[in-house]
Amino acid sequence: MSEWTTDDAEDLYRIQRWSDGYFGIGADGKLLALPNVGKQEVPIALQDVVDELLDQNVQFPVVMRFHDILKNRVKQINESFAAAIADFEYEAPYRGVYPIKVNQMREVVDEIVEAGRPYHYGLEAGSKPELMAVLSYDTGPEALTICNGYKDKDFLRLALLGRKLGRNVVVVIEKFSEIEPLLRLATEMEVQPIIGLRVKMRVKTEGRWSESSGERAKFGLTTSEILNAIRLIQETGYGDAIRLLHFHVGSQLSDIRFVREAVQEAARIYARLVKRGVPLTYLDIGGGLAVDYDGSQTIGLSSMNYTMDDYAGCVVAEVKQICDLEEVAHPTLVTESGRAITAHHSCVVMRVIGEIANDANPIATDPVDDEHILVTNMRDLLADLAEDKNYQDVYNEASSLLDDVLSAFKLGILGLEELARAETLYWRLLRAIAKGLETAEFVSEDLRHIETPLHSQYLCNFSLFQSAADVWAIRQILPVAPITRLNEAPSRNCTLADITCDSDGRIIEFIGEQSNRTALPLHNLVAGEGYYIGLFLTGAYQDVMGDMHNLFGRLNEAHIFCDPEDPTGFYIEEFVAGSSSGQVLNIMQYNPAAMAGQVKAMIDRTVANGQLRSREGVKLVDFYEACLSSYTYLLGPELGELP
Ligand SMILES: *Cc1c(COP(=O)(O)O)cnc(C)c1O
Repeated sequence: MSEWTTDDAEDLYRIQRWSDGYFGIGADGKLLALPNVGKQEVPIALQDVVDELLDQNVQFPVVMRFHDILKNRVKQINESFAAAIADFEYEAPYRGVYPIKVNQMREVVDEIVEAGRPYHYGLEAGSKPELMAVLSYDTGPEALTICNGYKDKDFLRLALLGRKLGRNVVVVIEKFSEIEPLLRLATEMEVQPIIGLRVKMRVKTEGRWSESSGERAKFGLTTSEILNAIRLIQETGYGDAIRLLHFHVGSQLSDIRFVREAVQEAARIYARLVKRGVPLTYLDIGGGLAVDYDGSQTIGLSSMNYTMDDYAGCVVAEVKQICDLEEVAHPTLVTESGRAITAHHSCVVMRVIGEIANDANPIATDPVDDEHILVTNMRDLLADLAEDKNYQDVYNEASSLLDDVLSAFKLGILGLEELARAETLYWRLLRAIAKGLETAEFVSEDLRHIETPLHSQYLCNFSLFQSAADVWAIRQILPVAPITRLNEAPSRNCTLADITCDSDGRIIEFIGEQSNRTALPLHNLVAGEGYYIGLFLTGAYQDVMGDMHNLFGRLNEAHIFCDPEDPTGFYIEEFVAGSSSGQVLNIMQYNPAAMAGQVKAMIDRTVANGQLRSREGVKLVDFYEACLSSYTYLLGPELGELP
């Protein structure tokens, strides 16, 4: 076998492909962040960030946020549309908005607003608290603020408050019954609203969010509702306010065909409404711009068959063609891309804290006196394997022998010790067959999965439910890769287990060459050395949808900026502490101070009874209090001994 190189690591983990160029591998086998893609002066080694955090006694897991990636994404989408508009001689601008539900973290929104300012990039809100966050940003006089989602009176009042301040706040009507209260409040507050209409699209999309369009969609107005809505709004004297036509056919549109079909349908509706005298000027095509999570560039659920440039080109070309045919002025184009803006910028870096393997701690299997024939037979199979190497025969025999061993144990014929010996020999046999198959020309379907029971589970210090909810909920594929040793051949086939007390808390599907793989090759753990792996593309939805399963709570966060003047290429601008045990307990209605008081009272009683020394009692009280204010995840020895 030729020597393992970083090219082999790239083939295996596909880092450049899924990361859209934001991550790569250094010659020294370190995983690098390249937030400015081609223009990265000094690449950032993730291990250097880990080392700096360890120096500052930061506990893992840590969310690493690369702010320059966010900036780059905002720039890219605006420049993609600008280029398409220039190319097709489209006669109106692009005015994108960022839907904050995708990641509402203040630092994330701050960065997007800053990066978007030169482009008049705006924000979108889908609930009252989101709108309150959005209204606190000054996005400039030309940017849009878009309100989607179901709205009550306060939501509408907040939107009109924004209008009072002179902002371009668009209230998108999702439901016919929102019209009357909106117009009444506008009259009451003496302010001109800007109204958008959400169309229920007929186009059928495919994928996980296909229910967002079609007749059964939750949001939007049917054609007759659109016509009735316009009539009602005009009759109330607000006809001038209808300015935007909106649709959203679902997230992660893997196939550009659906983008094209949806835009065609919407552009036609737009043009026909304009011809009926409705003063529309904005066409808002919602979200859906996908992320290539597995880097396969296909129409698979975790991928996409187009680029951001293709997307912009497709939208601009289709709208232009239909408006030109209909002889209607080109609308200002609005997108509400969220996933594509934030997914790349953050990753979760965690430490592998141990290994769970069936054959990790085997007992001795040397022949003993009075050994049961079933155990001896199993050992003989191992010897056969060394001689004739008919893997299929040996495997078949071993499998039925193992069944016999289990039956014999259940009937009380075999003891625990003999069961353990037979099983250990069986695992060894499987490993030997798996090793032999590596060089075999043909491997039967049966034998292809022989390794599954042999896969190690690497136990990782994180909660899947907090950091990658979609992996659990919708079997989303997220890229996983070690952040060092990429110049070294991995030697273990692993699945990943988290630290929650939930068997579902694991990752058992990974990016593969043709189809997904059920185990990921990783390196062996070395005592005394931390082995850190990254879970990538977590910046959209995953960062903010996590739940409190087992009360682990939010992660420590490092906000990282590029600094080409610094030899490491970065500086950590801010560190945000994750949840402490006291904080998560507080959310569940506990009062940490009272809890500490109760435990102290119990300890005092024990001391008074003479069962505990006073000195020891004080120490235990201090320890309990310290735990309330410390991190919920498992604490290191971060670089210390591995179990
Ligand atoms: C969720 C949502 C978005 C964001 O969709 P992405 O696919 O993440 O870009 C945009 N608009 C509306 C109305 C949404 O509900």
